[in-house]
Amino acid sequence: MNGYFNNLNFFPSNKVIKDMRKYVDANKIPVINDEALIFMFELIDLIKPKRFLEIGTAIGFCVINLASYDSEIIIDTIEKNELMFSEAVKNVKKAKLNDRINVYLGDALEFDLNNLASEYDIIFIDASKAQYIKFFEKYEKLLSPDGLILSDNLLFHGFVNNTKEIESKNLLHLVEKIEDYNSFLARNKNYQTKFFTIGDGVSVSRRIKK
Ligand code: MG
Repeated sequence: MNGYFNNLNFFPSNKVIKDMRKYVDANKIPVINDEALIFMFELIDLIKPKRFLEIGTAIGFCVINLASYDSEIIIDTIEKNELMFSEAVKNVKKAKLNDRINVYLGDALEFDLNNLASEYDIIFIDASKAQYIKFFEKYEKLLSPDGLILSDNLLFHGFVNNTKEIESKNLLHLVEKIEDYNSFLARNKNYQTKFFTIGDGVSVSRRIKK
């Protein structure tokens, strides 16, 4: 984000958030950037979600920021990597947010939905990029009638729709999967999706009322 705007914007700040920023920089862990975070704060102010579900916790940076920003929001978040999961649990505890953030260990594709609430006002997909269509199809069942599904990294570091310079087969496969997901969203007649060049590419999908 433009440094000037960054200074004008309000970001929640406390020791845990500062320590997490250092940790992700030192360990090169991809987390939501400031621009996408500010966008999420605005969505939260507009739709006042009671319950928020995140697929892909990493170390809890996003959810701790959201819960620090909005003192009412209740968040469930799923992480499949055990190291990340335990780091996230530690951070949530340090931030004293364990009453409003529940971190679950598990593969979101195999996760038992009975462990979760029956409805979420925002579902944020930010896990294994190759599985986004499957995440969407599984978790849309939990979306409240006026809820939003957000998806992150839809431009994947500028490689999406720009595959010429990709040499690695794995990366190409991943980027093609993200392109498939973007088309899936654009074509999905049950949702109206808007795409934003915010952060690494974010979409907002709103269910179309029948
Ligand atoms: Mg992300």
